[in-house]
Amino acid sequence: MTAAPLPRGSSGDGWQYCAQGHKHWGIYGAAGLLVRSGDLVLLQHRALWSHHGGTWGIPGGARHLDESADAAARREAAEESELDTGPLLETARYVDDHGGWSYTTVVVTADEALPVAIRGGESVEFQWFRAAVLGTADGPELHPGFAFTWPEVRDI
Ligand SMILES: [Zn+2]
Repeated sequence: MTAAPLPRGSSGDGWQYCAQGHKHWGIYGAAGLLVRSGDLVLLQHRALWSHHGGTWGIPGGARHLDESADAAARREAAEESELDTGPLLETARYVDDHGGWSYTTVVVTADEALPVAIRGGESVEFQWFRAAVLGTADGPELHPGFAFTWPEVRDI
């Protein structure tokens, strides 16, 4: 998938301070795609060089100016993997709003938990995990942001 060139000045790539004083990636906020299939969840093993490298999270990143959370989450997933996001139906979303900055988790459902190949340099691999093990000692080491959000999105 080739993205159309962005109009000048509309990229959301950059840092933003929220009302709580944190520094976050994404001038216009950020979004991520949480893909579920039955009792499985698709996670991205993040490249070692990246922020919190080596941990597992969901594909996502900065929203561009006037870009919906859904569009941003699907675009980021398509940039980071070979996942075909077109057929994935949104079933829920969770907004973590810090004031002046927010992270939207877009929850979608896949019919089948098919293998997903990586694309670009931000991932080591994609793998399906049983939802029940995430956040437990039997599960993978989660990215801190996703670990914080997971209890909120697990049951929606
Ligand atoms: Zn914040």
